[in-house]
Amino acid sequence: MNQGPRQYAELHLHLGGAVLPRILYSYLHKIKHDNLHPDKLELANQYLRRYRTYEQWERRLTKPSKSLSEYLEAHKIIEPLQTVNSVAYMVNRLLRGCYIFENLAYLELRYCPYHRIPKDGTLSQQVSRMADIVMAIHATAAANFREFPIVLAQVLCMDSRLPKEVNQAIVDLAASLPEEVAAVDLAGPDTFYAEQEDDLLLCLKHAKEKRGLKVTCHLYETPNGCIESFLPYLDRIGHGIQIPLQYPKLLPQLARNKVCLEVCPTTYFRTGTLQTYGQLKPIFQSCFDLGVDIAVCTDNSGLHGIRLPLEFERLLTHKVINFHEMELIRANAFRHAFRWPGIINRREEH
Ligand SMILES: [Zn+2]
Repeated sequence: MNQGPRQYAELHLHLGGAVLPRILYSYLHKIKHDNLHPDKLELANQYLRRYRTYEQWERRLTKPSKSLSEYLEAHKIIEPLQTVNSVAYMVNRLLRGCYIFENLAYLELRYCPYHRIPKDGTLSQQVSRMADIVMAIHATAAANFREFPIVLAQVLCMDSRLPKEVNQAIVDLAASLPEEVAAVDLAGPDTFYAEQEDDLLLCLKHAKEKRGLKVTCHLYETPNGCIESFLPYLDRIGHGIQIPLQYPKLLPQLARNKVCLEVCPTTYFRTGTLQTYGQLKPIFQSCFDLGVDIAVCTDNSGLHGIRLPLEFERLLTHKVINFHEMELIRANAFRHAFRWPGIINRREEH
């Protein structure tokens, strides 16, 4: 598969933050009025009572936060709506937007399947429900490929709030579905990382050493999530911006190991981690200087009301990067993609 000019690869997008609030709100009405999913009727009614207008709903989902943990609360509202019955609808809408408005050729979609299933029954019953969600998303991407030709790779997220057994089950599920799942991630509030370090480290090791999976991890995003012991098990780092800012001595080792940072500019302003684009400049500059690849990503494009080309445009406008650097970063995303099947940069061949 060839990558044409101006096409983009998105390496860091959460299903919980990928669907536009407008589409989610219409979905609540569909559940209520079309009797779409009777099991979700109570939840839809509850949300529609609490958020009586679309504007109230949008304001709740997109309000700025003082911390990463507070920011992640919006996902808790959305995740129960993204069940096995609804992911096809939501992923279809997502792919449509990514194709028409972002010119994406490749999309890595990440989510924690455990947050999207009923919690009764045994762990093995829960694993089978999680597998159903993976299969539903895979089937949706395949069915939509003719109309929206985007290569979709799934990344299953462990969560810092979940017990080790559940996180390991998520890793094992990913390993058991090599065609459908490209990698695993560790997400959730990083305030839990220090106290859960041993268990989380075991899960990362399990994924990399025992299961041979590609691994990324939300790490060095805020000052709370700087756990050096996780680094040897990672192919990429979700965010990693505290490394150039506070731990630059780690950069040469990342360059040597070809570990790419998934930098999501808008997120840092939403979580209160950074205040200005000027603070991003030294992050990009140090990485360019020391040969650490960066891929620019949106993290939660639906909730941020921003699309990948606009992330680049804002970095250009604020002189964080120049056009030449933008092309390098755009190509980095294809090169570090876990499943991109094509040629890195066709334009250079002509
Ligand atoms: Zn993220």
